[in-house]
Amino acid sequence: MSAGLVQAAYIVAALFFILSLAGLSKQESAKSGNYYGIAGMTIALIATIFSPSAQGFGWIILAMIIGGSIGIYYAKKVEMTEMPELVAVLHSFVGMAAVLVGYNSFLEPPAPVSTDLAGMHAEHVIHLVEVFLGVFIGAVTFTGSIVAFGKLRGVISSSPLNLPHKHKLNLLAIVVSLLLMYHFVSAEGSMFALIVMTLIAFAFGYHLVASIGGADMPVVVSMLNSYSGWAAAAAGFMLANDLLIVTGALVGSSGAILSYIMCKAMNRSFVSVIAGGFGQEISISGDEEQGEHREISAEDVADMLKNSKSVIITPGYGMAVAQAQYPVYEITEKLRSQGIDVRFGIHPVAGRLPGHMNVLLAEAKVPYDIVLEMDEINDDFSSTDTVLVIGANDTVNPAALEDPNSPIAGMPVLEVWNAQNVIVFKRSMNTGYAGVQNPLFFKENTHMLFGDAKDSVDAISKSL
Ligand code: NDP
Repeated sequence: MSAGLVQAAYIVAALFFILSLAGLSKQESAKSGNYYGIAGMTIALIATIFSPSAQGFGWIILAMIIGGSIGIYYAKKVEMTEMPELVAVLHSFVGMAAVLVGYNSFLEPPAPVSTDLAGMHAEHVIHLVEVFLGVFIGAVTFTGSIVAFGKLRGVISSSPLNLPHKHKLNLLAIVVSLLLMYHFVSAEGSMFALIVMTLIAFAFGYHLVASIGGADMPVVVSMLNSYSGWAAAAAGFMLANDLLIVTGALVGSSGAILSYIMCKAMNRSFVSVIAGGFGQEISISGDEEQGEHREISAEDVADMLKNSKSVIITPGYGMAVAQAQYPVYEITEKLRSQGIDVRFGIHPVAGRLPGHMNVLLAEAKVPYDIVLEMDEINDDFSSTDTVLVIGANDTVNPAALEDPNSPIAGMPVLEVWNAQNVIVFKRSMNTGYAGVQNPLFFKENTHMLFGDAKDSVDAISKSL
């Protein structure tokens, strides 16, 4: 394949990636968005493998077969609820790849394009800066992603690491890395400076994510998505590969935009997320019970639903665990056929990944037009007869609005308690992801329906 043809293929692939992002932004077009992405990546891979600069065809194919098989195996095996963990691991690979590409590119720099000495020198300096920044971003992404994976999987404590002077430590890591970069460039490349910076960046990435609490992990995963994009873009500069630069920039900026949207949804400051570890100054409320709760049976819930004119269902992580979306669809259809208005209210961080609930409901064939975002539905609870809180906890916690000392203070939540009746489906009085007690469970208009969400919804469906 000629170099010109490779460039043309790269432009087509980049267009497919843009179409893919556009498609993925809406449920209705998400499937075609995925196909555009696959098409773009296929073109990109073929063009790269057959480009004049590629060597070792057999090795590339072998690596692709091994990597592809591992990828297919895990993609098939992974549960929806484990998806953020998988994404975090994949981000760590991108980070490590950027580190390795950086070292390789330092040891075997590309041949200069300029013919005069000044031009060659300028190119060399630019290349050194690219190597340094690429390795730095990659190393931060690598350890940060490993910690995010550990926190999501529960092998690392989800409570924030609170080292003394942690912000000053972060600042020190950045300042020392900048000084090392100065030395690295002025010494025309120093392996010692590169290695010391890499170790600092590994520690910095670890500390940055470790100091963020579990409740803020969704933003962290999305931030790491953005970092991995910038790491890929940096690798693109080192390899002089335009498509990698474009793709990295697309991932980097879309991840940053998503992080910003999520920060707004959780009432967090974007800058303090980037700085690592925000909201820790807030004292942690206990998880002790705050009064008496009332229980209800599935049959009584069915009666309550039959006597309601309007019903809102707010699903959360527990619906995903129980795989209750199918019976939820069943009762939705039964109620709608009796003329009852049924809608869904989705919190932006319900479940364990952005869009988690939307994917589950779409899978169960719940019509898109009755699935509403939090902002679209929050004012309607006061005119709603019955709300079914199915496996949600933090996202319906009134303490976020009422208790300034709560770890989730300031996070906008679904104001379900304004409805006439609230039924909470869960297995026990345990707390949700953020580990805080929920005053909703002790309100006068709330009833608890204990048990696995799927069994409970099945029982209601039978009674209906
Ligand atoms: P929560 O994690 O707050 O609560 C889930 C509830 O589901 C628990 O109280 C649990 O109670 C219940 N549950 C678990 N399994 C079952 C089951 N089989 N049947 C019935 N109930 C069950 O969920 P939310 O969706 O409200 O909130 C999401 C939380 O996760 C937020 O804190 C968010 O910040 C965080 N997060 C979100 C991410 C995202 O991108 N969406 C990513 C990472 C974290 P019990 O054990 O008593 O059954």
